[in-house]
Amino acid sequence: MYIRRNKNVIVGDCPQLRYRSNDVTDISKFGEIIASLKSIVRDDDEVAGISAPQIGCYKKIIVVRNSYDTLGHWSRPLVMINPKLLFSPYKQDMATEGCLSLPGIWVPVLRCSKVTVDYLTGDGKQVVSEFEGMAARVIIHETDHLDGVLITDYLTDYQVEHG
Ligand SMILES: [Zn+2]
Repeated sequence: MYIRRNKNVIVGDCPQLRYRSNDVTDISKFGEIIASLKSIVRDDDEVAGISAPQIGCYKKIIVVRNSYDTLGHWSRPLVMINPKLLFSPYKQDMATEGCLSLPGIWVPVLRCSKVTVDYLTGDGKQVVSEFEGMAARVIIHETDHLDGVLITDYLTDYQVEHG
């Protein structure tokens, strides 16, 4: 089971994780939030990504790690502001996911295995980049948080009834 090391992260399926986040209009106001998100990801090997609503900020900011660009270069924690996802062409795969906000819960989730993301970097530069595999999965998981969606929403009725 995942042991929660960061007190600032909202844990459990609670209303605070169900709000929808808004676009960031002035990046300069969110330096502290971005720094906190980065440090949570950087300080814990088990954390592949985090979203601003998980620390109580309802703005479209995510930080992901283990992401790579189309050339296959692994990157440091990557800040994505106002991410917009384009899913094409369709190819999906299934993998089990955990969530920093839902300790001890693992859910198999079917996701697109390739995604194009249009986002702003931490210094406000607009970037369009393509991600695949694990990186795509992490980005889609974190973007779900911006819409108040949790991995448990992907459980089927059968899985809920039969544990
Ligand atoms: Zn999560």
